[in-house]
Amino acid sequence: MTEGRVLVVEDEPMVAEVVERYLRRDGYDVEIVHDGKAALSEFQTFAPDLVVLDLMLPKIDGREVCRQIRARGQTPVIMLTARGEEIDKLVGLELGADDYVTKPFSPRELVARVKAVLRRSGKQDGSAESDLLRFDDLQLSGSKRTVENKNGPVQLTAREFDLLHYLASHPGHVFSRPQLMDEVWDYEFAGDASTVTVHMRRLRSKVELDPSRPRHLKTVWGVGYKFEP
Ligand code: CA
Repeated sequence: MTEGRVLVVEDEPMVAEVVERYLRRDGYDVEIVHDGKAALSEFQTFAPDLVVLDLMLPKIDGREVCRQIRARGQTPVIMLTARGEEIDKLVGLELGADDYVTKPFSPRELVARVKAVLRRSGKQDGSAESDLLRFDDLQLSGSKRTVENKNGPVQLTAREFDLLHYLASHPGHVFSRPQLMDEVWDYEFAGDASTVTVHMRRLRSKVELDPSRPRHLKTVWGVGYKFEP
């Protein structure tokens, strides 16, 4: 398990590379993109726990990226700005950023901020371990590893629980089978994505009130699966 998934959006390769190196060294899973458009698509597929977002970006600027991330949920954002850029802390906070670092910054300082923001948001290890996830007809406890639907407690195997919990922790995000193998099975994907298919079928039969017409565990044809909240 990593410390968490961090999406770094930065168009200056040197800065991106340094940030990536420091975050990886501290155990974070890191993806780098260099413009705002790529940031939004990677936000969907990588499902980060936190976004480090440069303000001045090609294609779509950091303000707009931040707004769109906010519109999609509570994922924390740390803004990077150059000294003298026409933005101050207030503007950053108005956009919904959680913290704010001015360039040039020390990479150690940024990593410390990432840790602090993740701790505050309660997602430090990316597994949201103690959170209760509630949906109208379904409830999961990450710490107790229990699931209840309208009919009462649902008995799941450890792996089924991990899969459900992972999907439900990232509502609306689409994951491919290899991504789920990687995240939930904890070892390198060796090519047998049908394992995911089998687990998903069992999960539906246990969790969904009508497994033939799943309410939460949706197939996205040609891509993979998502949890519909
Ligand atoms: Ca920039």
